[in-house]
Amino acid sequence: MTTQLEYAKRRTITEEMKEIASAERLSPEYVMRGVAQGRIVVVRNLEREIPPLGIGEGLKIKVNANIGTSKDICDVERELEKARVAQEAGSDTLMDLSTGGDIDAIRRRILRETSIPLGTVPIYQAAIEAQEKHGAIVDMTEDDIFNVIERNARDGVDFITVHCGINRESVERVTRHKRLMGIVSRGGTFLTARILHTGEENPLYENYDYLLEIAREHDMTLSLGDGLRPGCIHDATDGPQIQELLTIGELVDRARDVGVQTIVEGPGHIPLDQIEANVRLEKSVCKGAPFYVLGPLVTDIAPGYDHIVGAIGGAIAAMAGADYLCYVTPTEHIGLPDVEDVREGVIVTRIAAHAADLVRRRDVAAEWDYEMSKARSEFDWGKQISLALNPRKARRIREERSPGKPNEEGCSMCGDFCAIKILKQYTRAEH
Ligand code: SF4
Repeated sequence: MTTQLEYAKRRTITEEMKEIASAERLSPEYVMRGVAQGRIVVVRNLEREIPPLGIGEGLKIKVNANIGTSKDICDVERELEKARVAQEAGSDTLMDLSTGGDIDAIRRRILRETSIPLGTVPIYQAAIEAQEKHGAIVDMTEDDIFNVIERNARDGVDFITVHCGINRESVERVTRHKRLMGIVSRGGTFLTARILHTGEENPLYENYDYLLEIAREHDMTLSLGDGLRPGCIHDATDGPQIQELLTIGELVDRARDVGVQTIVEGPGHIPLDQIEANVRLEKSVCKGAPFYVLGPLVTDIAPGYDHIVGAIGGAIAAMAGADYLCYVTPTEHIGLPDVEDVREGVIVTRIAAHAADLVRRRDVAAEWDYEMSKARSEFDWGKQISLALNPRKARRIREERSPGKPNEEGCSMCGDFCAIKILKQYTRAEH
């Protein structure tokens, strides 16, 4: 079997590349060249029958929604409802971060019941199974980790987060470094604790070639996770983060050499003035690999509003060149999101993505804004609602504040002093 990257390196344009080109209104040659250079990835496991998704340079910005059970709240139906709502709200991908209940069964149901690419973080499941089997996460064996990865790949998971950039050297550095928040990535913490406890190397780093073999067999994209990402503004863009990025840059090269597609994950928490530097650094060190940022959050002081904090960072990051935004929900840092939090998280992140698309892909994105503005100037409320990013919310507000006035000129905001209406009266009079 041949991966999309291998086809592209031979200058073969696949059906998947054509589909992506058509969805993005680009030429198939452009997509093929981007895939060959590793600047674009075609996300879809060979086992899966869903439309392929393109992520990367020159394409529209993509949005991811995380779902998944926890030990405290393990309601599979609720997580499936979140998956459906995220897809309906326009998320391009889902990540199942389940850590409670039958994780294999949950993942398989999500794969069956959704039609957008699914990502997972297999180290979570490996850690939970190790705790059950050996009594402690740090006793997780190499086999425990790779068995879970193989199960994910065979099930059809389209991309996996793997914290391969953590190694003994980086752990030594991060433990010496004075960080306020230490390590906040769950996967990063599990692997760091294992290195500190056993003195052994991170199996995902040491046996990276084996990981590449599994990924290649299924054309499963590797999302190289930033296990040492800073967890607060105070720690942003520090030595351990950058050292891990340098390691990840080398791993990107090794994956490309054997035909495996990679995305690189980035922080986390970044003040506004450091976002562009983070994006440029990733693009340079990882030779244009698609950059997947978690938010980023531009301040730490707004629990309950972190979806907005993340969207501010996401818009700046995407404008600077990030390609893929992981949503943040209003409950970030304080609890598991519910279904409405998921919807809000997706919508707000799509606003960030679209705002950046208006700059990066104006040719495609601006049409939507033009149509909305036209409908607004014509008081076409039905069209405004149907064009709204969240029509449900727009309709509810309109019906609550202007009941029974579907054709009204103006709205309850300015009433008779509606600027558009007044100007229309005089321009009509002149004709
Ligand atoms: S009333 Fe004010 S807010 Fe409403 S449509 Fe007219 S100008 Fe816009």
